[in-house]
Amino acid sequence: MNVGVLGGGQLGRMLALAGVPLGLSFRFLEPERPTPVDGVGKVVHARYDDVDAVQRFASGLDVVTCEFENVPDSTAQLLEGLLPVHPSAAALSMAQDRLVEKQVFESLAIPTPVYHSVESREGLEDAIGRVGVPAVLKTRRLGYDGRGQVVIDSPTGVDAAWGALYGSPLLLERFIDFSRELSIIGARGQDGEITFYPLVENEHRGGILYRTHAPALVSAELQALAERYLGGLLEKMEYVGVLALELFQRGDELLANEMAPRVHNSGHWTQDGARTSQFENHLRAVCGFSLGSCDPYGYAGMLNLIGQVPPTERVLGIPGARLHLYGKRPRPGRKLGHVNAVGKDPDDVVATLERVERLLTAG
Ligand code: AMP
Repeated sequence: MNVGVLGGGQLGRMLALAGVPLGLSFRFLEPERPTPVDGVGKVVHARYDDVDAVQRFASGLDVVTCEFENVPDSTAQLLEGLLPVHPSAAALSMAQDRLVEKQVFESLAIPTPVYHSVESREGLEDAIGRVGVPAVLKTRRLGYDGRGQVVIDSPTGVDAAWGALYGSPLLLERFIDFSRELSIIGARGQDGEITFYPLVENEHRGGILYRTHAPALVSAELQALAERYLGGLLEKMEYVGVLALELFQRGDELLANEMAPRVHNSGHWTQDGARTSQFENHLRAVCGFSLGSCDPYGYAGMLNLIGQVPPTERVLGIPGARLHLYGKRPRPGRKLGHVNAVGKDPDDVVATLERVERLLTAG
């Protein structure tokens, strides 16, 4: 089958690396060059709103999916008129706007931080009155890795937050004093079959995912609760593919932060730590195959390589460290690769990742 992918970043690269052994071929639509997908498929370099290029991209494909969700609605709809698109244009649209996303959470009784939309400077005062402080002001669209958001923890911070973000639709939400950040990833096939990976625990630094620990050490009740929330979303959206849900844990409670309609950084551990990786399961779903087992082999961890990459031979010299590089030029704050580690004991997994971290701090 010929699979088209909207976006050509590292997620696209890892989709192709998982799909080639299944006999799939890949074509990407990506505005920038060079890209991490150079060498793993054909690339149509064009803007997502270039109608001619989108049609050229679609010609001869069997199915289209995305590794980047912020494609214009009009592009996803245009493609839907030409061939199967999974997840659907409607699902992508719901996940693009934080306000719509929160409304979807509420419609399914999935708890989420108290929020209010903000359309003006006066509206921000009103929202602060309703939400309280500390709070986080976020752009409704295009925020990622902590970009497009500012914490307001005092009345004097209001002007600074407004000054940093005004100009696009905003949302104010309550700052949550969470105990842990967790996420859950699930897949839904074309026949409605649903499968879930275990909850994982995520450590962020500067708003960017730094490490993931899988499975998270949580009760069976918390896993069941997360599956109920994600299962509800998968069914409501008649979703096909992998969907990730980021959660804040506060005691026995899970609050939904946001969902990602694609493979997710907190699922990279599945490449080495689960019977079927998230990349393979996404492709199985969008191509209409049966889903693979999400069972973990044991414990796994993932360390993101952000801004710098240690010498390959040093990483490969650490027993159990599995290196995944994206072929990107180093730049501060840029995700350049990750290292997975797998083991029977969570402490051994962390020890392996810490050996890699020491290579980074050693420079
Ligand atoms: P996001 O772009 O919404 O995924 O946010 C990036 C990171 O900012 C999250 O992973 C959290 O660490 C932090 N964050 C976002 N929203 C909140 C919130 N309402 N309360 C506390 N921390 C938050």
